[in-house]
Amino acid sequence: MTLVRVALDVPLHRYFDYLAPATEAVSRADIGCRVRVPFGKRAKIGIIVDLPETSDFSPAQLKPVEAVLRDLPALPADWFRLTEFCAAYYQAPPGEVMLSTLPAGLRRVDPPKARTPKAPAKASPTQVPPALTAEQEAALAAVGANAGKGFHAYLLHGVTGSGKTEVYLRLIERALAAGRQALLLVPEINLTPQLEARVAARFPEAGLTSLHSELTEAARARNWRAAFEGRARIVLGTRLAVFTPLPELGLIVVDEEHDASFKQQDGMRYSARDVAVFRARERGVPIVLGSATPSLESWANATDPRTRGRYTLLTLRERAVENARLPAVQRIDTRLEKLQDGLSGALFAAIEKRLARGEQSLVFLNRRGYAPVLACAACGWVSQCTRCAANLVLHLADRRLRCHHCGFESRIPKACPTCGNQDILPFGRGTQRLEEVLAARFPQARILRVDRDSAKSRKQWEALVEQIHGGAADILVGTQMLAKGHDFPKLTLVGAIGPDAALHAADWRAPERLFAQLMQVAGRAGRAELAGEVLIQTQFPEHPLYAALVRHDYPAFAAQQLKEREQAGFPPYAYQAMLRAEAPQMAEAIAFLATARAWPGAEAHGDVLLYDPVPMRMARRANYERGQLLAESSSRPALQRFLAGWREAVEAIKAPSRLRWHLEVDPLEF
Ligand code: ADP
Ligand code: ZN
Ligand code: ZN
Repeated sequence: MTLVRVALDVPLHRYFDYLAPATEAVSRADIGCRVRVPFGKRAKIGIIVDLPETSDFSPAQLKPVEAVLRDLPALPADWFRLTEFCAAYYQAPPGEVMLSTLPAGLRRVDPPKARTPKAPAKASPTQVPPALTAEQEAALAAVGANAGKGFHAYLLHGVTGSGKTEVYLRLIERALAAGRQALLLVPEINLTPQLEARVAARFPEAGLTSLHSELTEAARARNWRAAFEGRARIVLGTRLAVFTPLPELGLIVVDEEHDASFKQQDGMRYSARDVAVFRARERGVPIVLGSATPSLESWANATDPRTRGRYTLLTLRERAVENARLPAVQRIDTRLEKLQDGLSGALFAAIEKRLARGEQSLVFLNRRGYAPVLACAACGWVSQCTRCAANLVLHLADRRLRCHHCGFESRIPKACPTCGNQDILPFGRGTQRLEEVLAARFPQARILRVDRDSAKSRKQWEALVEQIHGGAADILVGTQMLAKGHDFPKLTLVGAIGPDAALHAADWRAPERLFAQLMQVAGRAGRAELAGEVLIQTQFPEHPLYAALVRHDYPAFAAQQLKEREQAGFPPYAYQAMLRAEAPQMAEAIAFLATARAWPGAEAHGDVLLYDPVPMRMARRANYERGQLLAESSSRPALQRFLAGWREAVEAIKAPSRLRWHLEVDPLEF
């Protein structure tokens, strides 16, 4: 009698044993195949992980597998090592991890009817690749020197427009020539149609396939399968694509490696960048992490003498296009003048100059909506979300008050709900208000707002990009959506409004994010023949962050931040995990965390520090009150040893039925 051990998508840290079906033989060659099995009253799709000799259950207790699905090749051993590593590292149930990485259609008991695949879009072949710059040559030579020697991690630090993408393309070309597949990970495919087009144009024969959340279920399954079966030689995808089984993987590239979108924020809270590094090591292939503003974790891995050799640093200091210089960055000291609707005279004048010259300006404000709050000056009422510890944001474009945290919406009241005052006013400003201010000031200008409200879908986003490229806009008003990876040839001015808030935020990662954002958005200015100018409105012009920005000096900024982090004992000099609990009452959440903190087993882990449970900064969200408990160690293995036992202990805590909790390893947000 053959026993079949199966991974199932259930929140338990174990596999499930079944008997082989009576009607067909199951062999070890079937490990990695999907199966349909009875589970409770229903059927489920699982994956065969083993054919064990023995089971904790007697054969009479075990049910037979209903069917072995051999429509796909069996998932390979390295894919099991990858998913099992992630389950162990992130303390996530292995079956859940494995099944969640498959396209939805492949884990459904009743799969959708396969439709005839669309013929892949014929890419219009290649502009001729440019002759490489000396810096690009040097970077490629450094990677080439280690070719065929297995795993090697590189950090490609290149200023915006320095030709990092060209370096990726050349590396991909080499991988393809060596008969290997390349995996190119990007933070948000929505924002990168240009990259997709560029890769497709360069490699029209490589069967480029993309994997991201905007694909239909059928398309995703089809693309995933093309990658798995080796027909697609280049896979371009967002974070989940890091798990795609690739039989001939020869290269991994992670573009914009610092981007927070690589972090999954629910379910298994993994970092696709970190998983990619693990995968490259495990498969013995090179990995290139690229960014103009690397994460401080990666920067430390590439530059800290104590980690020497972990990552090799490759640097591109100059813009690739001849004569294209980095934009001149200036600070506008907003203490010295009275701003008009938040804008300085210098910025108005600079925009006017661009209008006269037929060039584009971008005003960057990382806050969407019209105003962050509506308030009554008579009684002090402010528009608050009843379900969250947060304000309702005023959206005048569609006349709503909206919570950006839970999605709650209401109409805009005509008078103060508390005192009846008719004169309730918006307070502060978001992109919609800025758009209005600019329209009033420059009535002849064509103004385009780009944020998540105006670009909800990829289609809308592409239409906006099209308009910008076609010169159909004079002034862009946008959030960080506009900061990423886009070439706008006529854009010569960037103004940043109100960036100071992040300087003094409680989150110690806020400066890192701010610097990256400003550097990226500044990088939009002056890419082609036209010189660019960047104006930063600030009340803290002397702040070292802005001083480094003016010099385009990421290394200086990073060095200063890393020094502070080391003194404070923060990552990357410490390793952390966060236990979060939420319940209708804060007291319940904190009591749960306190029980977790009192785990007697913790005594055996003197190298792990458990902090006191505290309410989260945003203490209530969607009617749940939220607390958190931080575990920290100076050693990653020590933290890992602790977490395995602790997670089991936390699972055993009897919690109120409406309490929810999760554990996040390497948390990014506090
Ligand atoms: P990054 O990814 O670093 O922002 P890109 O690879 O997008 O930079 O390159 C920026 C611009 O420079 C693009 O228009 C690209 O076509 C061009 N470019 C890249 N490498 C070269 C080169 N060696 N010679 C001329 N132009 C180049
Ligand atoms: Zn009032
Ligand atoms: Zn809310």
